[in-house]
Amino acid sequence: MIRVQPRASVALMEGYHSPQLDVEVRLNTNESPVPPPPGFTEAVAKAASEVAWHRYPDRACTELRARIGELHGVGPEQVFVANGSNEVLQTLSLTYGGPGRSVAVFEPTYALHAHIARLTGTDVAEGERAEDFSLDLAEVRRVLGEARPAITYLCSPNNPTGMVETRATVEEVLTLAPGLLVVDEAYGQFAPWSALELVDEDTPLVVTQTFSKTWSMAAARLGYLVGPSWVVAELEKVVLPYHLDAFKQAAGIAAVGFRREMEQRVAQLNEERGRLESALSDLPCDVWPSGANFVLFRPRTVEGGDVWRQLVDRSILVRNCSSWPRLDGCLRVTVGTRDEDDRLLAALGEILR
Ligand code: PMP
Repeated sequence: MIRVQPRASVALMEGYHSPQLDVEVRLNTNESPVPPPPGFTEAVAKAASEVAWHRYPDRACTELRARIGELHGVGPEQVFVANGSNEVLQTLSLTYGGPGRSVAVFEPTYALHAHIARLTGTDVAEGERAEDFSLDLAEVRRVLGEARPAITYLCSPNNPTGMVETRATVEEVLTLAPGLLVVDEAYGQFAPWSALELVDEDTPLVVTQTFSKTWSMAAARLGYLVGPSWVVAELEKVVLPYHLDAFKQAAGIAAVGFRREMEQRVAQLNEERGRLESALSDLPCDVWPSGANFVLFRPRTVEGGDVWRQLVDRSILVRNCSSWPRLDGCLRVTVGTRDEDDRLLAALGEILR
């Protein structure tokens, strides 16, 4: 049998890896440690019983977009929804990237920005962050000047560092970006400010957010962007017809009715993040300040990969970034429940002392 080969650029790819092991304490994928409120589950069950299952869903996702728009004070024409913010990013790349075009990323950052770009035949211009992982504006100027990218990606708070870009930085990058500026705010609700403030019809800026983290809905795969209506109109041409199923639309509509509960969860997680950061700082670890629901740290006394394995032996899973470029020896831990974090901290205490 002859195996048919994918195109060369895909054959050479390693794909996106995030090991999912069967453990008791899962702190590796930045999900919410708690489920949505019981009222949400009931609302979704009711909505499921009302879906016209024999019909295609509302292709334009009208009500869902309107409800998300209300969250952010914009109309539905400024909202694009898709299956997770990853699909939003993919649609952006399919629309504005492609052969002969490029995107710019500033490493270390979310690996999918570059990965999706390559999958869509788009060149990737990689800029470097400063030693402390902050954005170096001189480097941004250089990369954008040389590559003239169709899309410039920022990620705020940045995954995996947790760092929040300031408004002044985003405004500066906006003046430098020759194409579209995408601010990935998958963790935006945990941060003290949002680039949503800067979105308007005349600015080539879009902000992506997700239901996977703050809304406790990673299982649903629902994400969106807010941007100028002329961007949304182009994305609508590219995305597959009926890409968002009726059940998911109903789940999203139900969720936004629980905004207050979501904000309470965010406040609790932010408080717990503070506790986790300070406890990690009391251990022999370098800790980076985070504006997200995760914390990046580097153990000083034992090599990071070794710490990761010893945590797995204790049924605790964190993200092993120790062999990633620029993140030598680093681990990233999701803020969990108090109990989960206590288990992690106790285990780290044993391993590092
Ligand atoms: N952007 C960033 C920065 C992320 O960390 C993630 C989740 N790992 C995503 C986007 C994708 O999230 P989702 O597809 O679940 O909305």
